[in-house]
Amino acid sequence: MKCRVCRGPAIIDVRRHNAAFCGDHFVVHCREQVQRAIHSHRMIEPEDRVLVAVSGGKDSLALWDLFSELGIAADGLFLGLGIGDYSGASVGFARSYARDRGLVLHEVDLAVDVGFTIPSAAEATRRAPCSACGLSKRHLFNAFALDHEYTVVATGHNLDDEAAVLLGNVLRWDVEYLGRQQPVLPATEGFARKVKPLIRLGERETAAYCVIRGIDYQVEECPMAGGNRHLGYKEILNEVEARSPGTKAAFLFGFLDRGHERFSERVEVERDDLHACTVCGAPTPGDVCAFCRLRERAASEPIDVARPRG
Ligand code: SF4
Ligand code: ZN
Repeated sequence: MKCRVCRGPAIIDVRRHNAAFCGDHFVVHCREQVQRAIHSHRMIEPEDRVLVAVSGGKDSLALWDLFSELGIAADGLFLGLGIGDYSGASVGFARSYARDRGLVLHEVDLAVDVGFTIPSAAEATRRAPCSACGLSKRHLFNAFALDHEYTVVATGHNLDDEAAVLLGNVLRWDVEYLGRQQPVLPATEGFARKVKPLIRLGERETAAYCVIRGIDYQVEECPMAGGNRHLGYKEILNEVEARSPGTKAAFLFGFLDRGHERFSERVEVERDDLHACTVCGAPTPGDVCAFCRLRERAASEPIDVARPRG
């Protein structure tokens, strides 16, 4: 196996591009893919202030690193989810990455700053932890960005994540989620712009990128991920991809190019119908936003160590 660029020994193949790369040229390949995503979807403008949602995992640290490589200044925000040792180790990876490179890492701790943890919220609501977690992340990253005058929130969602989410949305024909599934969600009243610059890289590539660049990251799976439908969809797509390389990218980019606009109208109607949450001021279709309702319910539950649910 030879590098497509220099013909030296390759260390990784990317079957959907029918290519293999040596370490240096693989890093260049990743940079080009991210740059292409940023440019073609107009994700970031020179005057933007960028906040990266940093989890301590491979995707968000690769993203932060690729921003530095591309000369895009970005600060990080780590959200402490209160998931026992997993959260404790994750913040360690995020802190050391930032410290070693002289980058700014902000931290918000759910237990300390908000008064609940993901396990306690899941217990209080009797719902899957990932639903409380997703809601908390969306709300708190956005609120932090607005409060601290960041114009863009960048997340490490990669090609595998986005293809799996798309498969889930299609299987249920969830037209609202399909309308919102875009690599860029423009800023609107009460919302910073949301961007996903890694959509052209698979998770095998972000992991390889971190190894080549010497980035230590959290390799453990979140203990609350059990039963997460998203992981099942990823496995199914991996099987299809193994038989027919390129299917995942064709599925996602075909949707973005030719399918998405059929669902986008509904999102605009939804956005027109929002007003300020009476508790926190975030845009919501009701009186009190979903995050404040979660917070209210979770406040009754004692906070303790993570109890993984199946
Ligand atoms: Fe949050 Fe679920 Fe991801 Fe764990 S697996 S970090 S609970 S979304
Ligand atoms: Zn609210």
